[in-house]
Amino acid sequence: MTTQAAQRMGFRAAILDSNSLSPAGQVTPFHVLYDWNSLPGTVELAKQSTVVTLENEWADPNSLLAAEHTGASVVPHPRTLSIIGDKFVQRSCLLQQGLPSPQFRALKDWDDVCALFAEWGSVVIKSRWGGYDGYGVKVIRSRFDLDNLPTVEAASWYAEELIPFDVELAVIVSKNESGESAVYPVVESRQTRDGNRCDIVIAPAPGLTQEQSERAKQVSLDAVNAVGGIGIYGVELFKSGDRITINEIAPRPHNSGHYTMDGCRTSQFEQHVRSVLNLPPGSTALVAPVVVMANLLAPKDGNVDLDNSIESALKVCPDVHIHWYGKNEMRKGRKMGHLNLLGESLESTLERILDAREAFWEGSN
Ligand code: ADP
Repeated sequence: MTTQAAQRMGFRAAILDSNSLSPAGQVTPFHVLYDWNSLPGTVELAKQSTVVTLENEWADPNSLLAAEHTGASVVPHPRTLSIIGDKFVQRSCLLQQGLPSPQFRALKDWDDVCALFAEWGSVVIKSRWGGYDGYGVKVIRSRFDLDNLPTVEAASWYAEELIPFDVELAVIVSKNESGESAVYPVVESRQTRDGNRCDIVIAPAPGLTQEQSERAKQVSLDAVNAVGGIGIYGVELFKSGDRITINEIAPRPHNSGHYTMDGCRTSQFEQHVRSVLNLPPGSTALVAPVVVMANLLAPKDGNVDLDNSIESALKVCPDVHIHWYGKNEMRKGRKMGHLNLLGESLESTLERILDAREAFWEGSN
């Protein structure tokens, strides 16, 4: 989606991926056909580019440093990625800057988890590296959870306090090399029933006071500054009453910002392109009173009859915006695309987008 935004503006985007038919690869004719995380591939991409940017945080910092040595600029900077890529280091950085975070501890072994559970009454353990969509997060609320936890290599995980949040919020923040920043509206992010994956995003987050919303935006901008962030970032937050706590920072366009594609004057993808090229940011204003995004999480493994699905969704809700990513394989639970809908009231917009989503999946049967 960043590639689409770049091309629309007239920039040529090259993609590093061993599969020329990756979702981004389908958009551009310029391919560097190596594994997306390989050093020679990253260097080859950098040789062909003025700026190298990413859509995930796991790119190897050494490959990115090698890319910088070719003269290309790498945004976000490798040092920012090495802070964010290890969630424990990320937390330590936020704490050092005095930003609101849960209490957290390193783990040496399994006994440490049990001791923290005894001390806090509950505990969340997280993989330091490589977690996404809740893989790599275990929430332990009870003795039963603790006893039934699959064994983990404790030293590559860390523990944090369980935050009893009312809602999960998120804010997209962009920052360019000249120091110009743009902060999007605060949204509410609702997770799937198993609590792991983002399901629905509502903009603006309902029920926030002006003061809470301003604070959430300021904390998000401060978090991006704390990691020396240039580029675009999704900052995930917990709201517990009046208290805002940072969950994590993602150094890339974020699922909680997909609503901006149709719902804001400048989409997060265009803002990403602008920020990495050190261009002035665009307006982050919403273009409707309410914007809702619903993820298309695959209900099963296999295929979808896309023509039918699109037709059924549009019959039910003609003004829904459908974004299908063209991933090469559909697996149960995988994010295959999303829907966006603009409306006047939350209740009716939510109802219409859920109907459209149901019709989309029914149409594929
Ligand atoms: P991932 O990067 O895999 O998405 P997150 O750190 O965002 O992992 O955690 C996934 C979900 O787990 C969160 O959206 C939230 O619902 C829950 N969670 C994570 N950390 C905490 C915490 N400290 N307290 C309460 N719930 C948490």
